[in-house]
Amino acid sequence: MTDPAPILILGGTGEARALAQVLHAERIPCVSSLAGRVSDPALPAGDVRSGGFGGVDGLIAWLRAHRCTTVVDATHPFAQHISAHAAQACTRLGIRLIGLQRRAWSQVPGDQWISVPDLAEAADWVGQHGRRVFLTTGRQDVHEFAHLTEPWFLIRVVDPPTCNLPRRHHILRSRGPYVLDAERKLMVDNDIDVLVTKNSGGELTAAKLAAARELGLPVVMVQRPPQVPVDVAVDSVDDAVSLLRTAAR
Ligand code: NAP
Repeated sequence: MTDPAPILILGGTGEARALAQVLHAERIPCVSSLAGRVSDPALPAGDVRSGGFGGVDGLIAWLRAHRCTTVVDATHPFAQHISAHAAQACTRLGIRLIGLQRRAWSQVPGDQWISVPDLAEAADWVGQHGRRVFLTTGRQDVHEFAHLTEPWFLIRVVDPPTCNLPRRHHILRSRGPYVLDAERKLMVDNDIDVLVTKNSGGELTAAKLAAARELGLPVVMVQRPPQVPVDVAVDSVDDAVSLLRTAAR
């Protein structure tokens, strides 16, 4: 008898790891896929592959070779290319695509958010108003701020950026999750006057928003790009597990 076809989890997020953990524990076959750009990544339980597929055609070839009938897109809300590729590949193969995307953060009383549609506008705002900037948009986006010569940046990244950097900066290498006390102390110690973040959502990195709120600091919040259409959209690991459990029976 041949092995059952695995579910492909497009991952790199905490939710993708949590999903793989449950499926692995329940012996539902799955393979987690990572982009492979982070050194020393947090690895999901079970089978893992790493690196790009080589565009839509490469992804289709992989899905065919593994006889996959379900893909879970649990990638980061700002990872647009892989999500678009997954949608195209699943449509062309006629297989099911489940989108697992955590809810976006929303403002609560006391927040002072400046919502911007993209990183270029975030950089414009910072160029006009920022003096000491806490930049948490990830290393792939730091180049958007490289032309700013006046503000000082505390740039928090997992791996060091390889792009051009703003003239005045300090690179802080660290990986979440983060807690409120430490986030508040970091902002106070560095005399931060604005926080810049993408609206990634999720609990693991939300403490910086609470710290900014407590300190009365503005937050330049980059809004999410439009979500790629999927067959079923869920916003929690539990909901994804319920769907996949039903399908595996
Ligand atoms: P992307 O722009 O959607 O993907 C670029 C290419 O990387 C894809 O075309 C694909 O290559 C490969 N790829 C991406 N995710 C993959 C996966 N799970 N498995 C296999 N290949 C994958 O995504 P991105 O470059 O990863 O990130 C784009 C944005 O999302 C950035 O703004 C980044 O900061 C953010 N992000 C944040 C986090 C986080 O935890 N904070 C994690 C990931 C991304 P092929 O075309 O060759 O298949």
